[in-house]
Amino acid sequence: MSHRYWSPVVHRLTPYVPGEQPRLSHLVKLNTNENPYGPSPKVIEAIRAELSDALRLYPDPNAERLKQAIADDYGVTPAQVFVGNGSDEVLAHIFHALFQHPAPLLFPDITYSFYPVYCGLYGIDYITRPLAEDFTLRVADYLQPNGGIIFANPNAPTGCLLPLADIEWLLERNRDSVVVVDEAYIDFGGDTAIALVNRYPNLLVTQTLSKSRSLAGLRVGLAVGHPELIEALERVKNSFNSYPLDRLAIAGAVAAFADREHFERTRQAVIASREELTADLQNLGFAVLPSAANFIFARHPQWDAAVLAVALREYQVIVRHFRQPRIDQFLRITIGNPAQNAALLAAFQDILAER
Ligand SMILES: *Cc1c(COP(=O)(O)O)cnc(C)c1O
Repeated sequence: MSHRYWSPVVHRLTPYVPGEQPRLSHLVKLNTNENPYGPSPKVIEAIRAELSDALRLYPDPNAERLKQAIADDYGVTPAQVFVGNGSDEVLAHIFHALFQHPAPLLFPDITYSFYPVYCGLYGIDYITRPLAEDFTLRVADYLQPNGGIIFANPNAPTGCLLPLADIEWLLERNRDSVVVVDEAYIDFGGDTAIALVNRYPNLLVTQTLSKSRSLAGLRVGLAVGHPELIEALERVKNSFNSYPLDRLAIAGAVAAFADREHFERTRQAVIASREELTADLQNLGFAVLPSAANFIFARHPQWDAAVLAVALREYQVIVRHFRQPRIDQFLRITIGNPAQNAALLAAFQDILAER
């Protein structure tokens, strides 16, 4: 009815649907890859210190302090760093600023499902390239003329890692287009491609503080690449919202990078739990893809994944199931703390015994 007031593009949008954020707090929530451990206490302290009369003032539009902290952490310059309100916003600006070309964007058939959504929003043509049978990415499939390439590494929702050597191979053969590596999960098991940005002006790497820094609620994401790529993102950002990061987000994010000890300890705990949970699920008969992320992608040869997801819910455990070709028999399970992982296992043991 009142749809007639909508801009034409809105009719054609198919928005992204994020994993459920249930109001019931007793649920074992293993569905959206949040960190089971809290953020660094120093982050909380820094945000508290920022809570003052100064909130009447706009934040630094360029978040210089944060760019410097990120630059120091990765051994790059602040001119190579872009920050935004979550890496989803950073990605949106990337699609807008760098992927609107006549040639199609290339990405895998199974990857972060926000990519086709941004293509819809910005009218970008894209072609998906199928992952191999074992869900690894074949770089040789990305040699056709393109207006850009994007993939998540480790990939979502599979957890599979593409080695840096393969990324370099791809960069060398796609010098005329931008290659974006979405490293939302890299801290849980891979080497960052940021090591390559000084050699490849066509490489842009995105990361987020939502997963390995346990700050999904603060909304901070970043991109690192050649200053000219960053400049394109700044132009779009400053044509959209000059102040995407508020004072609390800047203060908290700077403190997160300062506390190495907390970061190392919590990510190692998640990695250790991932290895344990993988072995435990294999013992129950699950096939588990090798994961370099803070989640695992698993299927049980005798059980329908949708049935398992519903059954788990009766045990107050929620995981993510995608009704999508090739992966509809898998469950994506976020690594929880030891108690949460034990609850998941106990639930599975019960459910599988019913047969
Ligand atoms: C979680 C995630 C993001 C988005 O992270 P935010 O910074 O919370 O917006 C981006 N890409 C992938 C692959 C993710 O899993």
